[in-house]
Amino acid sequence: MTPTRYPKQSYLMLRRRDDSGRVTWATFVKRTLLTNGFGHAWISGEVGNDSAFLNLFQIRLVDCAKQSLLDDVNIRSKGEHYRLFKSLIETEGYVSVSLSCRLKHCLSNFRCSGHQLMIEKGRHMKIDRAYIFCPLCLQRNVYCIENEFNILLVCPIYADIRERHFIDGWLRNYILEHLFVHIMYDTNTQSFLHLLDTWTLHFC
Ligand SMILES: [Zn+2]
Repeated sequence: MTPTRYPKQSYLMLRRRDDSGRVTWATFVKRTLLTNGFGHAWISGEVGNDSAFLNLFQIRLVDCAKQSLLDDVNIRSKGEHYRLFKSLIETEGYVSVSLSCRLKHCLSNFRCSGHQLMIEKGRHMKIDRAYIFCPLCLQRNVYCIENEFNILLVCPIYADIRERHFIDGWLRNYILEHLFVHIMYDTNTQSFLHLLDTWTLHFC
């Protein structure tokens, strides 16, 4: 852009103000460039080939945003299960298959801990995680935390539902941590969807 054009003159004026310590629009441009590894573009004031730079910059921004999301999932207690099966930030297959909106909603809530299980209620009520027990199990003097893993594979209250909907391979799999991740990776299986359908009160 030629220096005689107003946008260029405005940019240079804001940049001079930034140089003198004022926070301007140019300051945010500078921060964005520096934090994404493009400090050289700010220092030189040039980007070379415009379209090539924009293409590269866009890819870098998307990569950094994805990494930031994964970091967020990894440090939050709410992501305790989600991080076990969500390793790539991409659209899940179940979003584009032929399922009712209600079931997709349930599935999304189940995967992202957007449900009414005690683990979430207790978190909001600031109850110590070690004491967030499943109320139904407690009636049988079984002390287990009510979370996604528990109701999907452990809670004895739902044993008959599992018998009805689980495929044989799942019923014979005794390494529950692996089975949980396996099921959550492949949430399109009819067994899982039937199972979820019976729990819509929890997840919708
Ligand atoms: Zn239970």
